[in-house]
Amino acid sequence: MNKIAYMDYNATAPILPAATQAIVGALKCVGNPSSVHGMGRKARSLMEDARDNVAALVNVRSDWVFFTSGGTEADTLAIKGSGCERILVSAVEHAAILNASKNVEIIDVDENGLVLLEDLETRLKDDPRSTLVSVMAANNETGVIQPVAEIVEIAHRFAAIVHCDAVQAIGKIEFDMQALGCDLISLSAHKMGGPQGIGALVKRPSIKLQALISGGGQERSLRGGTENLIGIVGFGAASKEKTDFNRIKSLRDMLETQIKGLSDEIVIFGEDVARLPNTSCFALEGLMSERQVMALDLAGIMISAGSACSSGKVKASHVLEAMGVGEEYANNAIRVSLGWDSCEEDIEMFVQAYAKLVARVQEKNSKKSDAA
Ligand code: PLP
Repeated sequence: MNKIAYMDYNATAPILPAATQAIVGALKCVGNPSSVHGMGRKARSLMEDARDNVAALVNVRSDWVFFTSGGTEADTLAIKGSGCERILVSAVEHAAILNASKNVEIIDVDENGLVLLEDLETRLKDDPRSTLVSVMAANNETGVIQPVAEIVEIAHRFAAIVHCDAVQAIGKIEFDMQALGCDLISLSAHKMGGPQGIGALVKRPSIKLQALISGGGQERSLRGGTENLIGIVGFGAASKEKTDFNRIKSLRDMLETQIKGLSDEIVIFGEDVARLPNTSCFALEGLMSERQVMALDLAGIMISAGSACSSGKVKASHVLEAMGVGEEYANNAIRVSLGWDSCEEDIEMFVQAYAKLVARVQEKNSKKSDAA
C-alpha cells in the first residue's frame, strides 16, 4: 500500500498507542460508575484516575474537571450554562463558540488574529451587566496563540468571568489554568491523541453553572447521563503522554522553509507571532483551497482547507476574513497540522506534491503575462 501522509491533526489526531491500550482494558470493565457494587466501584475508580490525569495536565484539582461529550459541548455548557447577560467572544473563535448563543458580541482581532485588548476593555467599561468573555487559547486554523493571561487580567478588572477554549492548545503547548487565571476551560480528547466524543469542561468551584442535561445527576449534577467510561479512560491515558513538540516544530519549520523556496508569493498566516508548533496555514494566489485538498488527497496527503471539523465543507475561512485577509488568499488557504506520528517523509511527500501545484500556477501566470 502506498504511504499516506496524515497531516490534519487539528481536525483529529490518530489515537496514541497508550490510549488504545487503556481503552481495550476499559472495554472489559462491565460496571456503571454509578453502581455501588464492586464492578461499579471498579468503573468509578478508572474514571477518577482519568480525571486525575486530565486535571494534572492543566494543573487543577480533580474536582474542577467535568466530563462532556467533547469540546463543542464543553463550550456550549460554559456559555449557555453561565446565564450571563452578555457573552463577548473573539472574531476568530471556533463555530462551537460562535454558535453557542444567538447573542454573542464580537471582539475584534488584528491582522494576525490576536484579540484587540483595547476593544475588549472598551466593551467591558461602564456596563453593569453580568459578562462572560470567551477567547480561545490557540486558533485551530492558524495556530495563533492568544494572550490569555492579559485577557483574564482585563476581564477580571471589570468583574467578567473568563472562559478559554483550550481544545487546540492542550498537549501542544504548556497550559496552566491556575497560572493563567481562567475561570472555565474546554478540552477535547481527540485533538491530543485520545478518542473522539469525549472532552471536559474545567471549572473553578466559585463559578456556578446551569446544567444543559440534568438526567440522573452524574458529574455532580452538571452533566447528566451515564459516563462514557471508554472515552474517559482513553482521554486520561492520552493526557499522560508527552509528545516531543520540539521535534514537531522542526518538521513544521522544515515544511515552511521548503514551500517558501517554491515561490516568494506564498503567504503564511500568523508567521510573525506566537503559534502552535504543529500548525501552518498558508495560501498562494491562484491556487484554490478545494483544488489543493483534492489534488493532495489523490497523492495520499491529508490536509484541510478552512476549518475541516465544521462539516467537511470547503468555504472561505471566517478566521482569515476577521484578520482582514483578502478573498484572493482567504479562498486559497490550506492548513497543515502535524502531531505525534508525523515524520520527515510526510514533509517530503507534501513538498513534492505541492511543488507540482505551484508549478502549474506559475506556468499559467507566465502564459497570461506572455499573452498580455
Ligand atoms: N474548539 C476548537 C478550537 C476546535 O478546534 C474544535 C474542533 O475542531 C472544537 C472546539 C470542537 O471540539 P469537538 O470536536 O470535541 O466537539
